Formats: sequence, C-alpha cells, structure tokens
Amino acid sequence: MIEKLVIANRGEIALRILRACRELGIKTVAVHSEADRDLKHVRLADESVCIGPAASAQSYLNIPAIISAAEVTDAVAIHPGYGFLSENADFAERVEQSGFIFVGPRPDTIRLMGDKIQAINAMKAAGVPCVPGSDGPLDDDPERTLALGREIGFPVIIKAAGGGGGRGMRVVYSEATLLNAVSLTRAEALAAFGNDMVYMEKFLENPRHVEFQVLSDTHGNAVHLGERDCSMQRRHQKVVEEAPAPGITPEVRERMGGRCAEACRKIGYRGAGTFEFLFENGEFYFIEMNTRVQVEHPVTELVTGVDIVKEQLLVAAGEPLSFRQEDIVLRGHAIECRINAEDPTNFRPSPGLITTVHMPGGPGIRVDTHIYQGYRVPPYYDSMIGKLVAHGDTRATAIARMQTALSEIVIEGIKTNIPLHQEIMADAAFAAGGANIHYLEKKLGL
Ligand code: ADP
Repeated sequence: MIEKLVIANRGEIALRILRACRELGIKTVAVHSEADRDLKHVRLADESVCIGPAASAQSYLNIPAIISAAEVTDAVAIHPGYGFLSENADFAERVEQSGFIFVGPRPDTIRLMGDKIQAINAMKAAGVPCVPGSDGPLDDDPERTLALGREIGFPVIIKAAGGGGGRGMRVVYSEATLLNAVSLTRAEALAAFGNDMVYMEKFLENPRHVEFQVLSDTHGNAVHLGERDCSMQRRHQKVVEEAPAPGITPEVRERMGGRCAEACRKIGYRGAGTFEFLFENGEFYFIEMNTRVQVEHPVTELVTGVDIVKEQLLVAAGEPLSFRQEDIVLRGHAIECRINAEDPTNFRPSPGLITTVHMPGGPGIRVDTHIYQGYRVPPYYDSMIGKLVAHGDTRATAIARMQTALSEIVIEGIKTNIPLHQEIMADAAFAAGGANIHYLEKKLGL
C-alpha cells in the first residue's frame, strides 16, 4: 500500500482525499499556498509544506515546488484532485519520472484526452457515439468547409482541438458566416492554446448533460458506475447534479455504460474517469472525457456505495478492483448542490470571514466542506466552498431532504448561493426532471 501521499490541491477535495487516506492508513502531506495555512485539511494532515504565494501559478500550479515537497517528506504518491494540475499530462509525466505514483491515468492517456480530435477518434474506434462532424481537423479549402457545413446541417459549432474550460468554441447558424467563424476560432485557438487546429460538429440546440463514471484498474478490469445528470448549469458551470439521470432506463444505462467501460479497456485506462455526453432526443453524443475525480462524484458514491476516491488510491497502489460490474447495484437517488461563496443575485464572488456555520444533518444528508466558523474564504481561488448532497429511496425523497437541509444550513459573514438552490429545488421543471442545459439560465433571465 501507499505509505505517504501528497495532496496537491486545496479546499473540499483536499479534505475528501485526506479522509480516504485516513481510512486506508495512508499518511498525508498537505501542500498549500501562503493564503491557505488555515485550511481544514492542512491542520488535519500528518505534515504540511507551504509551496508558494497565494497566486495559483506560483503554488498549486508550481510543478517543481510540489515535486520537491514530495521529495523532502518522503512521500510515494501524489493525488492531484480536480482542477489545477489534475489534467496536465506534463505534470503526471514529471511525477512519474521523479519516481512517484501519480493517482490518475497514464500521462499519455491524459494527453490523448486533452486533444479533442484525437479523443473523439479514439472514442469512435471504441464504439462510443460522437456528435456528427468533420471527423478530424478542418483544412484550408473553403469549398470543402462550406460543403461540410451543408452536409452536417446548420447550426454547427467550430471547436478548437486544444480547447478547454468552455473556451475556443463558436456556434454558426448559417453558411454566410461559416468561413469567417472558422478563421476567428483558428486565430483565437492559436493565441489561447498554441494550436490552431479546429474541427466542426453539429450544434445540438437543447441537449441535456449526461455523464458516465468509470473505474479501471491495471489488471484489465473496467466497470461503470452509472450516469449523472448535470444539466443545471450557468455559464457552462454545473450548479446541481444528480444520479441516476431522470428517464435513463436500466437497458440504456447498461448499453452506454458498457461501451464506456469497453473503451477504458481498449485504451488501457487507469483509475477514475468520466465520459461526458450531450443527450438529445434519446441519443448520446460524446463530447469529452475527464481524466480525474469530479466535483460531483458524491452522488454516484451515494447511489452505488462505492468510495471512488478510495478506489483511486487502491488502483494507484496496483490493487485490482474489489468488485465486478454485476456487483454494482444502484440504490435510490442522490442530488448535489454546489455551495458557492457568491452573491445569489449577481453571482459575484463573496470572499471573507465566516462568522457562523451550522451544517444540516439527518437521514441521507452528506456535507463535503472545508469551511468552519472563523474560516476566511480567500479571494484567490474558485468560489465553491462545499457541497450539500441528499440521498433518498426516490428522487422526490432526495429533493425533500435537500429542501430540509437547505432550510437548516446557516453560513453567515459571506454571501452564498443557497437561495438559488432553494429556488431550483422548488422549481416545477426541476421536480419533473430532465430539463436541458439552457433551462437554468432561461429561468434566471440570463
Ligand atoms: P470544454 O472542454 O471547453 O468544457 P466541451 O467540449 O466539454 O468543452 O463543451 C463545453 C460545453 O459546450 C458543453 O457542455 C455544451 O454545453 C457546449 N457544447 C459543446 N459541443 C456542443 C455541441 N456539439 N452542441 C451543443 N453544445 C455543445
């Protein structure tokens, strides 16, 4: 087993990783910025190392500082969490070249999935359904580009092969504006990602976001843990997630999840991962794979009983998965609300001192958060300060439990988006299930 591990992240996910390590008897090293000395997991970790100033570029993204911290503390493994360096293939490579275990897929897998064109080609080869599109990069021939647009049918979306974080994309509604959009996206992609390769896809107008969780070991086993619906979004940021996705039948789950697991076996995937799909008119269209643990992993944990972070650590230690596909049985329904330190009316970040905290509890309630009374939310990082998760036998019970939890939770001193979650939980379309990715912004009048 891994003896000591560096947690190369902050906030709630760092605490989540620390808890999994405790359960497995793994000693922990918290690496943190100067602004994060008071983080809960820094206080709870066996050791801590300050790796740089508040700015992420000089701390949580500082590869040499993180590797040195692992060296001086005699750690054997590094868990990147989500965000920061978690999907940076160069980081994974440097970690392994320095003799440490990277808790995640092989560097070449991360690199493959980071190039959207290559990722789509790999998925097609593995039998995963993709969005109809250009089947590779667009060339310089305007006639061919126009013909492709007509063939796919407008609207189409032009996307940068190296894009990410919702950047490097442009929707085109008619042939007249296509060529201009391609050259604009190309120029932006070159400036932002150092790669001017772009491709074309059919633009789906009212899809849902449905994603499948997978786990693979290094012994050729891969399983899927069912799907999540993450369609409640604002500016491509997920706000509420749930498992299972409303309306997905066991047959469809087995077919799609089975293909994702099969794709993992084909590419020699290692660890936890997520296949993201747009889902429209009963069809799935692969858009990207996330090669890390996700913010919304708890909803899957609650309905499957699998501890995804613990499994990541066991796989990294070389253990085979302790269960097979047929052992995975979904129980009930789970919903997660992301609690952000932000103004609920204008969405501006609201950092500062938390003067009072009361967390909810009771049957089926899970709270993943690093905040405590007297904690000061720094202004330098993502505004998410925790996740409230409710589980019940049915979706209606999960919603009712979430509503009770939202009425109990108290966070004072800063503003939070709790009122927004109360509104969503009381919304008739949310209660019906299956709203599309534009629903929340429309409801909010954005
Ligand atoms: P990124 O890596 O930047 O997050 P994605 O490929 O995951 O990019 O796409 C981000 C979001 O853009 C999707 O969640 C979806 O809302 C929208 N999008 C991407 N491709 C399409 C498409 N073909 N049709 C409609 N919307 C799309």
